[in-house]
Amino acid sequence: MKDTFKHKGMRQQLVETIVKKGIKDKAVLEAIGKIPRHLFMDSGFLDHAYVDKAFPIAADQTISQPYTVAFQTELLQIKPGDKVLEIGTGSGYQCAVLIELGAKVYSIERQQELFKKTSKFLPKIGYRAKKIIFGDGYKGLPKEAPFDSIIVTAGAPFVPKPLLSQLAIGGRLVIPVGDDVQIMTVFIRKGPKEFEKHEFGEFRFVPLLEDKN
Ligand code: SAH
Repeated sequence: MKDTFKHKGMRQQLVETIVKKGIKDKAVLEAIGKIPRHLFMDSGFLDHAYVDKAFPIAADQTISQPYTVAFQTELLQIKPGDKVLEIGTGSGYQCAVLIELGAKVYSIERQQELFKKTSKFLPKIGYRAKKIIFGDGYKGLPKEAPFDSIIVTAGAPFVPKPLLSQLAIGGRLVIPVGDDVQIMTVFIRKGPKEFEKHEFGEFRFVPLLEDKN
């Protein structure tokens, strides 16, 4: 599977679509315009790769909608060199966007099948995360904390405390909170025990699951 001029053209249209929906950050738009999203999807869905929609990947999970990926990434306000933790590696697409922005990415996935597939696939197309971890995102990654930012890419029924405590001062946690529908929420760590909270409207994600099945 290759990246062709046709794919590049379709990607530019996708970028225009998400600009119309309100995404402004140039670096984020450039990343979406550059990353071959079709390579992150199963062959049956290739025609849909550049439509602004979520699609199924392995293990009953989804690759998030490009607008949602862009929206969450914009909220993270990544600077090159930032240490970023992602919860829910999934297809690796969001991880690639973070790497494109110059972040050092640690990403946790709880489904073994996806963990194996994506940790092989990303370096194959040139995206090197610092580490992809098979484990439970509710716990975060205390060994590598603090993080400049943390992004949760599944719907969290509540805000896991370890994620707040693993933020650097000034750091941001971007997390969709809720059961059936989630409110995109940003926590900014202002001090050891002080957090500022901002809410950004409704989204729908697959659930952040607690127990491994
Ligand atoms: N960022 C992904 C989105 C994947 S959907 C992408 O760009 O494709 C959400 C992912 O979160 C799924 O892969 C799911 O298996 C994973 N997930 C769910 N609960 C989790 C948990 N407790 N810890 C880590 N990953 C989890």
